[in-house]
Amino acid sequence: MHGIALITGASRGIGAAIARQAVQAGYDIALNYARDTAAAEALAAELRGLGRRVLCVQADVADEGQVLRMFERIDAELGRLTALVNNAGIVVPGARLQDMGVERWQRVFGVNVIGSLLCAREAARRMSTRQGGAGGAIVNLSSRAAQLGSPGLYVDYAATKGAIDSLTVGLARELIEEGIRVNGVRPGIIETEIHADSGIAGPELAAAAAQLPIRRLGRADEVAAAVLWLLSEAASYTVGATLDVSGGR
Ligand code: NAP
Repeated sequence: MHGIALITGASRGIGAAIARQAVQAGYDIALNYARDTAAAEALAAELRGLGRRVLCVQADVADEGQVLRMFERIDAELGRLTALVNNAGIVVPGARLQDMGVERWQRVFGVNVIGSLLCAREAARRMSTRQGGAGGAIVNLSSRAAQLGSPGLYVDYAATKGAIDSLTVGLARELIEEGIRVNGVRPGIIETEIHADSGIAGPELAAAAAQLPIRRLGRADEVAAAVLWLLSEAASYTVGATLDVSGGR
């Protein structure tokens, strides 16, 4: 019995791979997405075929009201949450600092940082053994950008992931005595549609891959495998860790 997992930003990319592996591992899941209802519903239908309950729930994680309503639906339709994957995240177009505006900062911090805080808060309220919960696990998606800084590309995005690394350490130490394990994963360059949003085209990705020690891009399922391990009982003594899944980058 694995319990009930919320995966944010699961209509495509890494989140969809996490959703698929979570269902295969025996979780019932809430599959969150922001805009692409058709993609989310198609994935949900496929995963229901594996015999688990899959609740498809639209919510912008940066919006507190939408997050609160999403958790209320999960309570009512699935039951008490035992796992959260804070995966929803956005990048921003490549730019230098001097050319950036405050609107993009508010949006990228809103989704990547406030969104993770909001979902972690609502999950902790339900999982905490001090509040009648059964404990649980949270995994936050960071990025190697947190440590590399992404100069000339998106230092703001990198800074949101630096914040996620701090959040993982702090929450892990705050919540472990309430039965909640918090960890993170730092992907390198993974082949998903996210790069198009920052204006990075296929040939540039291939060139970047050639520079990596492993000489190839990562796959979403390779990140998902690390997330599922961190959620699992096999990681029962792993607390506040952030695992690099980056091909040696
Ligand atoms: P992706 O392919 O762009 O997918 C993003 C997902 O998040 C989509 O399902 C999208 O749903 C959802 N989403 C976007 N904004 C949202 C919001 N405000 N509220 C709820 N859901 C939202 O991204 P990815 O490459 O799989 O990345 C997943 C995570 O890994 C992100 O946190 C990213 O920063 C991190 N990461 C990725 C890489 C990489 O190379 N790909 C590297 C390091 C870290 P809709 O399509 O419905 O809007």
